[in-house]
Amino acid sequence: MKDYLVKATAFEGNIRAYSAVTTNTIEEARRRQDSWATTTAALGRTMTTTVLMGAMLKGKDTITVKIEGGGPIGAIVADSNAKGDVRGYVSNSHVDFELNESGKLDVRKAVGTNGFLSVVKDLGLREHFTGQVPIVSGEISEDFTYYFATSEQIPSAVGAGVLVNPDLSVLAAGGFIIQVMPGATDEVITKLEERIASFPPISKLIEEGHNPEQILFKLLGEENVKVLEELPVQFKCKCSKKRLEKAIISLGKDEITAMIEEDGGAEASCHFCNEVYNFSKEELEELLQR
Ligand code: ZN
Repeated sequence: MKDYLVKATAFEGNIRAYSAVTTNTIEEARRRQDSWATTTAALGRTMTTTVLMGAMLKGKDTITVKIEGGGPIGAIVADSNAKGDVRGYVSNSHVDFELNESGKLDVRKAVGTNGFLSVVKDLGLREHFTGQVPIVSGEISEDFTYYFATSEQIPSAVGAGVLVNPDLSVLAAGGFIIQVMPGATDEVITKLEERIASFPPISKLIEEGHNPEQILFKLLGEENVKVLEELPVQFKCKCSKKRLEKAIISLGKDEITAMIEEDGGAEASCHFCNEVYNFSKEELEELLQR
């Protein structure tokens, strides 16, 4: 199945709903980061939720999510836009643990519970939105749920999941965000809570072949859902040699001189996609001039 997401409303517009299948996208991130199973789950849940949040944006707006819970994984960073492009990385991709008591990848242990989840939205015209909440769970989905309730004051249910094959490749990945609009009645909210409480793990549904529409139908009842739009989802990095030039320039004169004299050049790689860019001695000398 191709990766994509859908935007929908439900219960006469009282609910906004988003869901995505991101298996290929998370597999590409896994391959580029060379991440181990527990790390892949943490990164995949974060990237999936980030791309769903990206789908709430317009035009050239972008969103960056950073989760730093003090665990061995370090920071998880993901960014996305309104076009379904997403990328992400972790500080330490070689983190893995035994399965937890419920037989799942122990994401909480890898992420940690002592830190913050922060969201920065670049809304153009120099307008920025920044929200930050303490990490309450470390399992990622619950942390985003808390973020929406606290920072954006939108009661939401967030679910994101990743299944990893024994060879570490990604078997299934995806997620959903359900948001309650101000006009929703208690009856709708109660119905929603019941459905979410008994909902199977989303990664399992994706493994079984459910597409994003079917996930929302299962979650909200097909008769209640109105699908508005479909959007392709893909891993896409915006790095370039030009961007890394800026990063090298920001290191300062002494550092660049050392690269020229000691190494006769430099090799810089992108955190997100691990693409390597080589800078020759001559190129570094040129950067030094600037
Ligand atoms: Zn890159």
